Formats: sequence, structure tokens, C-alpha cells
Amino acid sequence: MIISKKFTLECAHQLPHSTPEECETYGKCSRLHGHSYKVHLKVRGDTCADGWVLNFSTVSDWAKENIENKCDHYFLNDVYPDMITTAENLATLWGKMLQEWLNSTYPDRKLYVQEVEVWETEKCRAIATQEDITPPSTNV
Ligand SMILES: [Zn+2]
Repeated sequence: MIISKKFTLECAHQLPHSTPEECETYGKCSRLHGHSYKVHLKVRGDTCADGWVLNFSTVSDWAKENIENKCDHYFLNDVYPDMITTAENLATLWGKMLQEWLNSTYPDRKLYVQEVEVWETEKCRAIATQEDITPPSTNV
């Protein structure tokens, strides 16, 4: 079973632009700009006796604390100074963060981040799949 939760973020970012080569590689994305990001978190696991994989609000609370409060209306390059803030890297990072939290919060359950989608525009998104995300701990 997969449950999913969507939310939005308004963020600025700028891809590398220190050299002519970087500006060539990243084109207009090397200029400071912003997106109305859509983020879609998907968690897979067994449905428990309570009828839930996880309470949707549990996923929302995690996203608010770990992504929204840190990124919404911020400059992503300041939030993640050691990372190129592409949709691909954001999706992978957030997927790994969520998987680590699932492993530590629910050590006796097999919960997996199935996918994290990060939409930069209506037409452009990156999808981090389970293979891109740290696998769950093996002690379950
Ligand atoms: Zn951009």
C-alpha cells in the first residue's frame, strides 16, 4: 500500500554560475530565480490494524518541520550550501531524510519512501525513486 502527501513551497535558488562553463551548462537556471515547488512524498508499507499505513498528518507534520519550515520563502542555496539545488538533488535529499526518520521512528515496521517528486514547474519534475534513496535499515 502506498500513501502520499503533497505540499507546496515558494523558494528561490540559483544553479552554479561562477564560471562561463557553469553558466553555459545551467543556462538561465544559473540566474537567481524562484519556483512554486510542488513536493509529493510517497510512503509504502503494510496497512496496520488501525487501518493506516501512517496517519497522513504524521507525514504532513514531518514535512512541515523538516522541509517547509526550513525552505518555504527561503533561498535554497543558503539552506543547502553544499548541494547544487536541482530538483533531482532536492528529491533525493528529502527522500533520504524521510527514510532515515521512518527507520528511527518505526524500527519495527517496514516503511519505505517509494518516491519523492519535486515539481519546479507544471511541466518539469524530478522523481527520486527507492533506488535513489537510502534503503531502510536491515534490522526490521
Ligand atoms: Zn530553477
